[in-house]
Amino acid sequence: MKLVVLGSGTSVPHPRRASAAFWLETAAGSILLDCSADAPHRMAQENLDWANLDAIWISHLHLDHCAGLAPFLFGIKWMPGIDRRKKPLRIFGCEGIQKLLKATDQTNNYGLFEQPFPLAFHEFAPPESRQPVEMLNGLSAEIFSTPHRDESLALRVTEMNGPTLVYSSDTGYSEGLAEFARSADLLILECSFYQNKPTAKHLELADAMLLAQLAEPATLLLTHLYPEWDAVNLESEARRLWDGKALAATDGLILDVDK
Ligand SMILES: [Zn+2]
Ligand SMILES: [Zn+2]
Repeated sequence: MKLVVLGSGTSVPHPRRASAAFWLETAAGSILLDCSADAPHRMAQENLDWANLDAIWISHLHLDHCAGLAPFLFGIKWMPGIDRRKKPLRIFGCEGIQKLLKATDQTNNYGLFEQPFPLAFHEFAPPESRQPVEMLNGLSAEIFSTPHRDESLALRVTEMNGPTLVYSSDTGYSEGLAEFARSADLLILECSFYQNKPTAKHLELADAMLLAQLAEPATLLLTHLYPEWDAVNLESEARRLWDGKALAATDGLILDVDK
């Protein structure tokens, strides 16, 4: 697997951090993990083959995770040569994605659902416990409900005989989530705040590192960084609390994920 960080930021505009999006290349196909308003442009900027993207995962309906969906569907429609694309684009994630897109679509008849290739939607209600889902052939996937929004979901994907990646997206502290993320080769974990977080629905550094201690990922990638992190060295602060490999996400960072 290969991961490209498209956006390590949040809903707050930042000069060096786009809002949430990650490009994941697997043996089974490419997946965009969250699609913020910045995501379509960031994929182009990183020279990624976005017109042949296989799947999009939307973790929840906060706009810093899904506001790029309508512009992406509007944009891909007008990509030169797109009429040759025959394979479907699969959009997976929380409940409400189609409702949001339909509302936009109906406002000005954008034709977001009329593409030259098939569009398939798979929305999942928050499960009681971890739940296997079908995503792409050759990839096993599971979802888990997170204490952030009613609809918010974490995702765990494993390549056949290959590595496992877990993406928490936005979340409050949850030991269940630590168990869900256990022994991942890469855990992409939100770490919104340094300390004194203003809400229980996000993590601050101490929460994130406690979660890492329980989950024991091979590599931990801390993301969803609010501007207050500009004044703090996240990696050295993380190392004081956990002796594993912790990285601070930056836009454009590329990671090879091995088993
Ligand atoms: Zn967010
Ligand atoms: Zn959120």
